Amino acid sequence: MATLLDRVLGRARDSFGAEIVLPEESSSQLRLVNEGDGRYDIVEKDGRAAVTPEAWSQYLYYWVHEELRQRLAVRAVIEVDYYGREFAPFRLQYVSTDRDAPYDGVYKEAEQRWDGVTLDEPAWKQALFVIEDFDPERVQNVGASFRMEIRQDFHIGRVLVAAPGGDNQEAIEGLTAFPEVAPLPSIRKSPDRVYPIWWLFVEITNLCNFHCTFCPDEIMERPRGMMDFDDARKIFDQVAREKNRLGPLYPIKLHQMGEPAIHPRLVDIVRYSEQEKGLPIELNTNCSLLTEELVDGLYDAGLTSFILSYQTPDEESFTTRKVKNKKLTFEIYLEKVRMAVERKIAKKASTKLEIDIMNTLGSSGIQIVGSNSQADRVMLDWISFARSIERKYDLPPKNHDLNFVDGGFRFLEHDADTGRYEILPGVDILWKELHTWGNIIQGEAVKQKVDGYCPAPNEQFVILWDGTVTVCCTDYEGTLNMGNVHEQSIEEIWTGPKWRRLRTTMWDDVLESKTCRVCKGVEEPELVQIQI
Ligand code: SF4
Repeated sequence: MATLLDRVLGRARDSFGAEIVLPEESSSQLRLVNEGDGRYDIVEKDGRAAVTPEAWSQYLYYWVHEELRQRLAVRAVIEVDYYGREFAPFRLQYVSTDRDAPYDGVYKEAEQRWDGVTLDEPAWKQALFVIEDFDPERVQNVGASFRMEIRQDFHIGRVLVAAPGGDNQEAIEGLTAFPEVAPLPSIRKSPDRVYPIWWLFVEITNLCNFHCTFCPDEIMERPRGMMDFDDARKIFDQVAREKNRLGPLYPIKLHQMGEPAIHPRLVDIVRYSEQEKGLPIELNTNCSLLTEELVDGLYDAGLTSFILSYQTPDEESFTTRKVKNKKLTFEIYLEKVRMAVERKIAKKASTKLEIDIMNTLGSSGIQIVGSNSQADRVMLDWISFARSIERKYDLPPKNHDLNFVDGGFRFLEHDADTGRYEILPGVDILWKELHTWGNIIQGEAVKQKVDGYCPAPNEQFVILWDGTVTVCCTDYEGTLNMGNVHEQSIEEIWTGPKWRRLRTTMWDDVLESKTCRVCKGVEEPELVQIQI
C-alpha cells in the first residue's frame, strides 16, 4: 500500500519528507530522540514492532533536520501508525509560530484527523496531522520539533513527516481517508505509570507577616518554622542528581505557605540552586519585605522568575492583607513593588518578572478588583510607571494601544495567561483569579457526583519546611502526608505505596481524604470559610 509519503512525493516534484519505522531506522532528516522525559522501549504489538514510552517518560520526541524543518514551514503533514480502537490516544504537540498559544507556542496541540471508525478490539490504525504554522526556527526540549504526549500506555509504529511542495493541497490524498477531526485525547494520567514531577515546592518557611483575607494563613494550625539552609541544600543536591528523570519540569517554587523573604538565607538558597546546581527558581513574594539590597542580591544570584504578589492595587483593597506592621502603608508598599521592577531594568537582569493582581470579577464575597473599569485604571497606572522607567533608562518606548488597554480588552474576563500584558521587557502584569484553597475560601455548593480525578498528585511534589511531603499546594495543613524527605528520598516517596494508592483511588473516583472531598466540593469544610 502506498504510504502518504509516497502519495505526496509522487504528486509533486518539490515535495520533501522522511519516515521512521523504528529508531534504528532513523534517517538523517528525522530521528526519535531517547533522552530526558522522552525515553522509550521497543515492544511487539500484534505482530509488529512498536515504540512505547518507558515507564518514567511521558513523551516521544521527534527531531527534524534543519533542511526538512525549513520546508515544513509551508505546510507539515504527519502521518502516524498507532495501536488502538478509535482515534489516536496521544496528543501531537509541535513548535508553532503562534506565540499566543500556551507555552509561547512551543507545544501547540495539532489537530488530529482519523477515519472515524471505532473498533471492538484494538488494532493498528493511522492518524493524520496537517500543520500550517510550523516554526522551523525554534525547538522543544532535547532539540525536538514535535512530540507525542502520553497519558496512558500507547504504541507507535511508522511516523511519516512530509512537506508537500507548492500549494498542492490536492496532493494530500490522505485527507479523504481521514474525514473526521478527533477530540483532544483525555489528559488523565494513568495511575499505572510514573510521571516526572512538574512543580516542586520547597517551602523554606511557613511564617508570614501578612494575613491576607484570601489566604488560609490565619487558620493554618500546623507548627510554624523555617527550613535549615543545609536541609535546603540537600534537597537541591538530590533534585539536581535526578532531575533528568524525576523532574521538576518547571522552576522550583520556594513556598507552599509562608513568605520566603522572611528566611534570612533566601539569597544564599537562590544562589545555591541557580548557580551551584543549575536548578531554576521561581520566587513568589508578597513584596512587603523587599529592599534594594535583597532584590539586587536575588538578581545577582541568577533568579529565573520573580513573582510579585502585589494583588491589592489600592489603599482600600490593601486593608485585606491585614498587615501587622502599621508603618507599612499602601504607598510604601507600592514603592517596594515598583523598586523591584526598576532594579531589574537598571541591572539589566535576565529574571522574568510577573506582577500578580487579584481578579475578583464574579466573586460573591471577597472584593479586590471586581470591575473591568477598575482594572483598566490599574493597567493605565502601570503603563504610566513603565513609561517613566523607559525615559529614565533610555529604553525604546513600547507602543501601547491605549484603546485596547482602556476598555477594549476587558482583562478580568480572561484567564491569567491570555490576559497577560507586558509593560516593560520581561515584566508582565497578570490578573489572577481568587483561589479557593480547596474550597476553604468562598467554597462552592456541595456537589452530588464525585469526579475523583485530580491532576495534582501526578504533577506536584510539595516539601513543607519540616521535610513533610504533601501532594498539592492547596493542602496547606499537610494532611495528605506522603512521607518526609529527611527519612526517604524524593523518588521513594513519589513512587511509594502511599502515593500510588492515592492516585489509584482517585482514578476510581474514590476520595479517601477529607481534604480532597472538601476541595472537590463533595463535602462541606469544617472550618468556617474565611470572612472579610
Ligand atoms: S486537595 Fe486533593 S483534590 Fe484538591 S488539589 Fe489537592 S490532591 Fe487535588
